[in-house]
Amino acid sequence: MAEKKKKKMKPDRVKTKMQDPGERIHNFDEVVLGYTREAAIEEAKRCIACKKAHCDEACPLHCCPADYIAFIEEGDFDKALEQILEYNPFPSTCGRVCVHYCEEKCPVGKKGTALAIAWLKRAAADYGQASIAPGKPTGKKVAVIGAGPAGFTVAWECAKAGHRVAIFEALSSPGGMLWAGIPSYRLPRAALDKDMQRILDLGVELRLNSPIRSEQEVSDLLDQYDAVFIGIGAHEPRWMGIEGEELEGVVHVVDFLRDVNQGKDVKVGKETAVIGGGSSAMDAVRTARRFGADAFIVYRRAREQMPADEAEIEQAEEEGIVLNLLTNPTRILGENGKMTGLECLRMELGEPDESGRRRPVPIEGSEFVIEADMMIQAISQRPDITWLDENSRFKTTRWQTFEVDPETNETSVPGVFAAGDAVSGPATIVEAIADALKAAKGILKYLEQS
Ligand SMILES: Cc1cc2nc3c(=O)[nH]c(=O)nc-3n(C[C@H](O)[C@H](O)[C@H](O)COP(=O)(O)OP(=O)(O)OC[C@H]3O[C@@H](n4cnc5c(N)ncnc54)[C@H](O)[C@@H]3O)c2cc1C
Repeated sequence: MAEKKKKKMKPDRVKTKMQDPGERIHNFDEVVLGYTREAAIEEAKRCIACKKAHCDEACPLHCCPADYIAFIEEGDFDKALEQILEYNPFPSTCGRVCVHYCEEKCPVGKKGTALAIAWLKRAAADYGQASIAPGKPTGKKVAVIGAGPAGFTVAWECAKAGHRVAIFEALSSPGGMLWAGIPSYRLPRAALDKDMQRILDLGVELRLNSPIRSEQEVSDLLDQYDAVFIGIGAHEPRWMGIEGEELEGVVHVVDFLRDVNQGKDVKVGKETAVIGGGSSAMDAVRTARRFGADAFIVYRRAREQMPADEAEIEQAEEEGIVLNLLTNPTRILGENGKMTGLECLRMELGEPDESGRRRPVPIEGSEFVIEADMMIQAISQRPDITWLDENSRFKTTRWQTFEVDPETNETSVPGVFAAGDAVSGPATIVEAIADALKAAKGILKYLEQS
């Protein structure tokens, strides 16, 4: 850990250039343009390298931000990147779209704005070079199912240890939700590709359009490989279960964004309602806006309870998106099989619920209608485990997630490990990576013993 520095800190973070809202609603180019080298060095100087390292504690990867920030301050982006890669194989991605728990805990933020830790990570990834070599071949082989951050992290760790890895991915492109979900105006594909290519360069084989469709296929993989990893994420839509969900114009965020990211000919409504207050709702509403829709949010809680990052909410508002808060859809209205509007109830905040957030309570008799010809539901999704046998050997939970050993992430089937959203349910990139690192440790130990 870098030594504590005593210095007077500048209260506000160095700003980064942004694409103008009037322009960006017409394109999918990156919105946040990132630091120049000089700006990154200037921002790095604001780090006080506090003794307690609150940022490190807050990050599920415990990636010692003060250490790589110290290298950036010296202008050594290569060393900064090398340092980050010891903990995180997705620096370019996390520098752009990580939920940055670290910044929430940064003490610099108490008297001004928190250190821009994510943007500094991005600068290290953009300007630094690091070469990582595969380990000495062991002759052992690992099959990874799913090319999301969890699968790639396991591949990275196993290849560095000298094992041969093949990734089996259902879709035509790798990246999981980073590719199929997150829009390119937040995560340009070149930035994502850079992280994945570094992993593939270790000799990892990637088999696209290769879904694993049955438990028998997993058993076949186990015959051919020494261990199997399941990182299939959470791609099955979850619906609210309200009347009218079958109407034309009603879609789920997972399908909508995947179609957009696959370059399909996507149609949006003139008035598009997006239900939810998280990151995926923000992505859906801002994407629909870029396709020309008058798109807006419908969320049953208050603004301060929205799970989406504040910066994303602000950027959405700059793009002209209206937030209909404390509003809960109860019925989708339609004519001739097509959606025409949303019946909603106004809500007020009651006592805190089990999540600690104040519970939204309906206001009696407050029904009203919002006109909309399209609705994108962005409440939640879950792992698609429809391919498991009826009497599966895999233990799963009622949320359709895989049960694993908490120490090793081994599933109930010996030699098969799982991590990421497939285990936690929909979470975040940094949590998927942290969980996958744990699974990778479990796999390496298992291979040592087998
Ligand atoms: C719209 C959206 C925006 C998000 N924004 C953010 C954000 O800004 N920051 C953040 O931290 N998190 C964000 N997340 C969450 C984040 O993307 C996930 O938590 C993370 O990608 C989970 O990683 P994973 O590897 O477990 O699964 P995934 O990334 O979902 O990858 C799973 C992969 O497995 C493949 N697969 C599934 N079934 C099979 C099968 N049977 N055979 C072969 N392959 C299969 C899938 O096609 C996919 O490629 C967002 C999620 C969504 C939906």
